[in-house]
Amino acid sequence: PPEAVPQAPEDPLFGLMRACKADTSPDKVDLGIGAYRDDNAKPWVLPVVKKADEILRNDPDLNHEYLPIAGLASFTRKAAELLLGTSAPTISEKRVASVQTISGTGAVHLGALFLARFYKIHGANRTVYLSNPTWANHNQIFTNVGLPIATYPYFHKETRGLDIEGMKRALADAPEHSIILLHACAHNPTGVDPTTDQWREIASVMAAKKHFPFFDCAYQGFASGDLDRDAGAIRFFVEQGFELLIAQSFAKNFGLYGERAGCFHFVAAPSPETAGTTTRVASQLAILQRSEISNPPIYGARIASTVLNDKALFAEWQENLRTMSGRIIAMRQALKAKFDELGTPGTWNHITDQIGMFSFTGLSEAQVVKLRDESHVYMTKNGRISMAGLNTRNVDYFARAVDKVVRE
Ligand code: PMP
Repeated sequence: PPEAVPQAPEDPLFGLMRACKADTSPDKVDLGIGAYRDDNAKPWVLPVVKKADEILRNDPDLNHEYLPIAGLASFTRKAAELLLGTSAPTISEKRVASVQTISGTGAVHLGALFLARFYKIHGANRTVYLSNPTWANHNQIFTNVGLPIATYPYFHKETRGLDIEGMKRALADAPEHSIILLHACAHNPTGVDPTTDQWREIASVMAAKKHFPFFDCAYQGFASGDLDRDAGAIRFFVEQGFELLIAQSFAKNFGLYGERAGCFHFVAAPSPETAGTTTRVASQLAILQRSEISNPPIYGARIASTVLNDKALFAEWQENLRTMSGRIIAMRQALKAKFDELGTPGTWNHITDQIGMFSFTGLSEAQVVKLRDESHVYMTKNGRISMAGLNTRNVDYFARAVDKVVRE
């Protein structure tokens, strides 16, 4: 019967993408999906990825065999080092279990599934606390595996910055051993990250309540252009002795969106039983992975592995990252300067204060709809814009369009 499978709504973000594609106006500005675009509004294949691709294609021994269940070891090992540091004790002490996943989404899912199955030691509380707001898919992924979700305050509407007091209060009020999802850097959708001092305060509240951190790291190298700096929060929590989970995506920082290259990592706390814990966790992750995807896709992992394992290519990758993050920062400055020039009502400092791929503009849903209908500007209903959709040709047009709706 039809009621057995009711019609589901279209995914809002992919619906927005479809509407934008169908718009034939030459003025159209696509600020919807979080994918990097160059100054010509075109997808950018990183030059270092092109090089790695050529190396792979010229390898006569290359084949299309299955990867092991846990994925390409030369990739997952370097992926862990990228997050934790090359000389991290966690690596030398074998405190990390890494599994290659279907990009960041697959890593969050594998982590969620693992928690749903095994996070039982501390009694009944298995609630996952998500930032308000967060990447919309977090809600669905944790709900799908049957874990209850709750939120902690994150974005402060007036300051358009971090609601650190609200966040700390919520973390302190949450029952002990709660699971707390944290964005490692370049928070999606707000572009607001805690400062180093604020991360210390967050870690201290979480340690006091014995909370369990789950880091989602989808933008390493995108926030500051510096891979180590963007992993700072994760490394700090590890140094503090937390046992934690990390979901890692290589979609944005390698521009490998559709190749689905990602990793899930379990990091054990330092203890005499560490080696045993890591081995047992790895064995269970392998069982979960086997029934979900059997083994991960090979191509994106090979590309990333080629770059991560070669000094010269790694240096070139860092250069490519600086190109992307630098262009985004330049667009933030250009947009802010344009608002200043136009005398656009309101304060716009948050445009340059926020970092990473996105900016939470503060525009209302009605204003967003108006921008779409009257100016062919596409952004999500919550007023989030993907900064990478702006370029030297459309930033003036966009600023004028916003200026107009703000004054109406
Ligand atoms: N987490 C966050 C916060 C994200 O913004 C994204 C990408 N939109 C992801 C995870 C996962 O993306 P992907 O599966 O493409 O790696």
